[in-house]
Amino acid sequence: MLTIAISKGRIYEEALPLLAAADIIPIDDPKKCRKLILDTNHPDVKLVIIRATDVPTFVEYGAADMGIAGKDVLIEHGAQSLYEPLDLGISTCRLMTAAHKDAPPLGRRIRVATKYVKTAQHYFSSQGIQAEIIKLYGSMELAPLVGLADCIVDLVDTGNTLKANGLEPKDLIMTISSRLIVNKASMKMKHQQIQTVIEQIASALPSTTP
Ligand code: AMP
Repeated sequence: MLTIAISKGRIYEEALPLLAAADIIPIDDPKKCRKLILDTNHPDVKLVIIRATDVPTFVEYGAADMGIAGKDVLIEHGAQSLYEPLDLGISTCRLMTAAHKDAPPLGRRIRVATKYVKTAQHYFSSQGIQAEIIKLYGSMELAPLVGLADCIVDLVDTGNTLKANGLEPKDLIMTISSRLIVNKASMKMKHQQIQTVIEQIASALPSTTP
């Protein structure tokens, strides 16, 4: 049995062609059914559908052999006990600071709203800024508008969400893409099967060399 953990939505949709390159084709559609374990064209390969932030946890504990997770989630999770063999180049975006478009430059002591507590703390201390981090679970854009925080740290794709709320992107913390991750014990015990999946997915990725 091979179990692959993945979140619904953009990552799932963009990963489908890559999984197909490894001849893994889900039979169920997570948009149409509420199943959390999806069957595939192989009786011994299953997809488990979980929240994006839970993917590294499932793979780390071996509840899933492999997973697909955003680099933002992996860094915040601190997933050192996982293999990360492939950058899939999907669900790309930027992790940025953002503030009200008319806000003055940030001072040396600030309040920051984000769900990326560890990443934000690490970033601001590397900038010599003393940041009080306020953990939020969503709608980060609201925080600077109601005086909860001086700025936010969040993912930015088109920038439309920030703009619609009178905010603008400020500093780039890192560029983000989704990665293939593998449980270390699974990599040893199911080496042939996992290595084949990695190679087939790798062969479907755009070449990085000209
Ligand atoms: P946008 O308005 O296109 O800049 O998208 C920003 C919103 O989409 C924010 O709420 C982000 O948290 C979310 N978002 C953008 N890109 C991603 C991604 N690759 N993965 C997860 N959430 C994202």
